[in-house]
Amino acid sequence: MSDNCIFCKIANGQIPTDFVYENKNVVVFRDINPQAPVHLLVVPKVHIETLNDLNDKELSAELFCAIKEATKKLGINEYRTVINTGKTAGQEVFHLHIHVMAGRDFSWPAG
Ligand code: 5GP
Ligand code: ZN
Repeated sequence: MSDNCIFCKIANGQIPTDFVYENKNVVVFRDINPQAPVHLLVVPKVHIETLNDLNDKELSAELFCAIKEATKKLGINEYRTVINTGKTAGQEVFHLHIHVMAGRDFSWPAG
């Protein structure tokens, strides 16, 4: 738990939030500023700043499983996943999260 980290507060219940999916170590909730009709954030409960700081293999697997659980729950099987790592990559919240977006077409390569 890191002070002044918005995702710590959401993931640990200090800011009441509807979770699409939750287990002991991971939560999934909707992005406040959605970039697609469905825009989820898959977030570990522990404070990890970026993907570079993720050293726990079990938690890594749990994050992937949470993508599957949340999308399955919503009946989605086509989606875009994004992890922004660092400022130049577009990371604004420095608590690791995986974006999961669905419900529209996505172009590739990404801009
Ligand atoms: P980043 O740019 O760090 O990869 O993504 C941060 C994401 O978190 C953005 O899409 C932004 O809309 C979302 N976000 C920022 N603050 C909040 C919040 O308080 N609640 C929720 N649900 N999403 C947030
Ligand atoms: Zn945090």
